[in-house]
Amino acid sequence: MRNIPVFVPYFDEEEQNLIAQSLKSGWIVQGPMVAEFERAVAAYEGVANAVAVTSCTTALHLALIAMGLESRHDVLVPSYTFVATANAVEYVDATPVLVDVRTDTYCIDAAFLDGFIDKRYANESGIWRNRETGKELFGIIPVGLFGLCADIPAINQIAARHNLKVLEDNACALGAHINGVHEGAFGNPTCLSFHARKSITTGEGGMVLTDDPVLADKMCKLRSHSASLSEHSRHKNHSFLMPSHNELGYNYRMTDIQGAMGVAQMRKFDTILEKKRALAARYDSALPTHAPGLIPQATPKGYYHTYQSYVVMVDYKTLGYNSVEEGSAYRNRLMAYLEERGISTRQGTHAIHMLGYYQKKYGYKPDDLPGAYACDKLCIALPMYARLTNDEQDYVVEVIAEWVKK
Ligand SMILES: *Cc1c(COP(=O)(O)O)cnc(C)c1O
Repeated sequence: MRNIPVFVPYFDEEEQNLIAQSLKSGWIVQGPMVAEFERAVAAYEGVANAVAVTSCTTALHLALIAMGLESRHDVLVPSYTFVATANAVEYVDATPVLVDVRTDTYCIDAAFLDGFIDKRYANESGIWRNRETGKELFGIIPVGLFGLCADIPAINQIAARHNLKVLEDNACALGAHINGVHEGAFGNPTCLSFHARKSITTGEGGMVLTDDPVLADKMCKLRSHSASLSEHSRHKNHSFLMPSHNELGYNYRMTDIQGAMGVAQMRKFDTILEKKRALAARYDSALPTHAPGLIPQATPKGYYHTYQSYVVMVDYKTLGYNSVEEGSAYRNRLMAYLEERGISTRQGTHAIHMLGYYQKKYGYKPDDLPGAYACDKLCIALPMYARLTNDEQDYVVEVIAEWVKK
C-alpha cells in the first residue's frame, strides 16, 4: 500500500555539512550563520533588513511591539489564518478584530475591509475609534495564505486612507510576488516562518523583513533582551562586563545551528519552488476533469504562487448539497477515504472566529464571517512537496476521481 504524506521537508547533505560546521566552530547561539541567513533572505526578497527570530509567532509579536502596538489598540486580522496571527495581537492585550476572507483566494477581502472600517470605526481627527469599545484602530495584518500574496496593493491603499499600519504575515509565502514585487517589498514589515511545514525550514524559526533601518534596529535589540550590545560583538571584543538593558526585552534569538540550516535551505529554495510549481500545474490541469467538485485556490493575474500548500475547496452547490455543513461532511468523508488509500490530507487551516478562546472572549458566531467559515469547513490541503513524484501525484488524482465517481 502507498504512503503519501501531505508534506515532507527537502534536505540533503548541504544542511548536514553546514550544521556540522556550526557545531565545529563552537559558536552555536545567534552569530555568523544567522547573519548569513538573514542576508540571503533579504537579498532574495529585495528588502534592506532581515531580523531572524525563533518563529513567525515571535516575529509577529516582536514586529507589533516595535511598531508601537499597545493595549489601547485594535488590529484587523483575517479570520481564516493560523491562530498565531491573532494570538500575537493578544500577547500585548490589544484586540484582534476579525475580518472576512474571499472564498476564491482565501485571503483578506479588500472590499469587505473598506466598508467594515467605516461601519465599525468613527474618524476622530485622523484616529479611527471603535464605535463600541473606544479602542483605536492600529492597523491590519494581511496574510499571504498557502503561498499566495494577499491583495497588498489594495490593502495598502485602504491603510493609507485610514492612517493605519500594515504588518504582513507571510509565514507561508516566502518568495511569493505580485507583478514581480516580492512580499516584503511593498513597504510593509513582513513576517516569515521556517517551521518544518513551510516552504523552507530551520525546524522552528522566523524572520521579520523591513526596509526601515530604525524599525530593524529596534527589533534586533528587543529580540536579545534589549541589550545595548549583542552577545557576538561582546564576545569578539573580549568584553567582561554585562551590557545595559534600558527597555523590556525578550529572548527571541535563532540559534546558529538553525541559521546554518537556513543558509543551506535558501541555496535550494529556487529548486524547491520549481518542483512544487510544476506539481501545482499538474494538479491544476488534472483536477477539473477528474474532480470537478474541487476548486483549487484562485491565483489572480500577475500573482506568483509558491504553493507552501496546495489547497482546494469543495464546491458543495455543484455537488448537489444545500449547506456548508453538508459540504463539510462530504469533505471529511473524502479525506477519510484518501487516508484509507494511503494518502494524507489536512484541513486547509482554521477560522479563528470558530476557536474556543476567541468564541468565549468575543462571542463570535459562525455567520459573523461566512467566507472564513466556508474555508474552514470546505478546504483540503492535498499532498504537495518537492519530492512528490508525478507517479504518486497521478495516484492521488486517480483516487480522488474514484471517490467522485462513487
Ligand atoms: C505557520 C503560520 C504561523 C506560525 O508560524 P510559526 O513559525 O510556527 O510560529 C503564523 N501565521 C501563518 C499564516 C502560518 O501559516
